[in-house]
Amino acid sequence: MTELLFRGATVYTPDGPGEFDVTVSDGVITSVGPRGSGRGKAVDVSGNWLLPGGIDVHVHSRDPGFPDKEDFGTLTAAAAAGGVTTVVDMPNTVPAVDSAGALESKAALARSRSRVDFGLWALIRSSSTAEQLVELASAGAVGFKAYLGYSFSVSRKQVLHALGASDPDLEAPPDYGTLTRLAPAIAELGLPLVIHAEDPGILHAFRRPFETYEDVLEARPAEAESVAISATASVARQHDIHLHIAHVSSALGLQAAEEAIAAGTRLTLETCPQYLWRTEADFARLGTAMKMNPPVRRASDQQALRDALRREVISVVATDHAPHTDDEKAQDLEHAPPGTPGVQTLYLSCLELARHMGDPWLAARWVSEGPAALAGLSESKGRIAPGYDADLVVVDPTQSTTFSPKAMRSRQKHGALQGLKVSFAITSVYLRGVPIYANGRLSTRSTGRMVRPAGVPIA
Ligand SMILES: [Zn+2]
Repeated sequence: MTELLFRGATVYTPDGPGEFDVTVSDGVITSVGPRGSGRGKAVDVSGNWLLPGGIDVHVHSRDPGFPDKEDFGTLTAAAAAGGVTTVVDMPNTVPAVDSAGALESKAALARSRSRVDFGLWALIRSSSTAEQLVELASAGAVGFKAYLGYSFSVSRKQVLHALGASDPDLEAPPDYGTLTRLAPAIAELGLPLVIHAEDPGILHAFRRPFETYEDVLEARPAEAESVAISATASVARQHDIHLHIAHVSSALGLQAAEEAIAAGTRLTLETCPQYLWRTEADFARLGTAMKMNPPVRRASDQQALRDALRREVISVVATDHAPHTDDEKAQDLEHAPPGTPGVQTLYLSCLELARHMGDPWLAARWVSEGPAALAGLSESKGRIAPGYDADLVVVDPTQSTTFSPKAMRSRQKHGALQGLKVSFAITSVYLRGVPIYANGRLSTRSTGRMVRPAGVPIA
């Protein structure tokens, strides 16, 4: 039995920060008590902050499917270096995670390479059946993701950005009809439904070539987000489903979500650091590193999102970590694929934003406590408290970090937050009591385990 004693840090507990000793036994926190009260092999973290490990509920590992863009090894190296000890991967890998068999194969692959714990979202296709969702839940899915407006290549088993065409290989995107049909099964399972909230009808009406960033904004208007949220919320409310909105990007989308919450919808909201830190004005400097769906919008949208975090209407900050190769991203605005890496900069960018808001400790709620609740992990992760996994991040509040391409562990080096300077540095990171990162070095390989939401029976 390994007993560790973290001493000297300011510790963020569910009741707020304080000067505590934290003891860990066999990977689990056993006590959080007054200084001098704990025993074990001492880990001196004096002058640092001790925070719960980050949980990024929105990453795209690209694995299996696109090893030139990323894999579970590079994804979780970036996560570990950024203080993220659990990632929850989206199901649009290839083959897509649309069946229990596909989920189990992906879990085996991830287990062989992952440096941090991981969970898996399952895909809803327009052809998905209630039985498939039950099997996916039994196999350990954290919940279900529907990409409104994204077609599915049946031969390649791949989700496509295409809005749909007459190609017989393309299955129609899941729509409000699909969600209404599957809602009773989702309600029965009690798992969250996540949507990519852009209404395809509105996107279709505004399609245009991209010459300037203004074209991007005009092609993906905020109404696409607000309409998708309102329509899906109406279905979710009727069936008492937990609806989670991925990557909210606009003031209008936020307003639609707040109206749905006021009407009684069980709805949680996620936004991403890129929407909180960047606006259209940054495109001139960042170029296609900033191209993503939905797009980074205007300063008024950024203000509304920051305000919603402050009011605790948004409970989750995740990254939509979606790397490509730097060569692919070097194409022009029309052809560069959408997405940016983000998992490595999630925690520090949130600490900095929370510091700007007057309380840096809020970051732990946005990137750890809130995401744990969404993923059904509230009983094991997201807090520094007895009985919880010893997923710990040691942060030095006296050192700064500037996000630079050369420090990035992902395959794609250039991201939307590059150049941002934050007044914190990550010193070391522990996964279930095991050091996985210290002073710029990753220290162990593939020790990650799959996490499953509490309360779902294992088949
Ligand atoms: Zn995504």
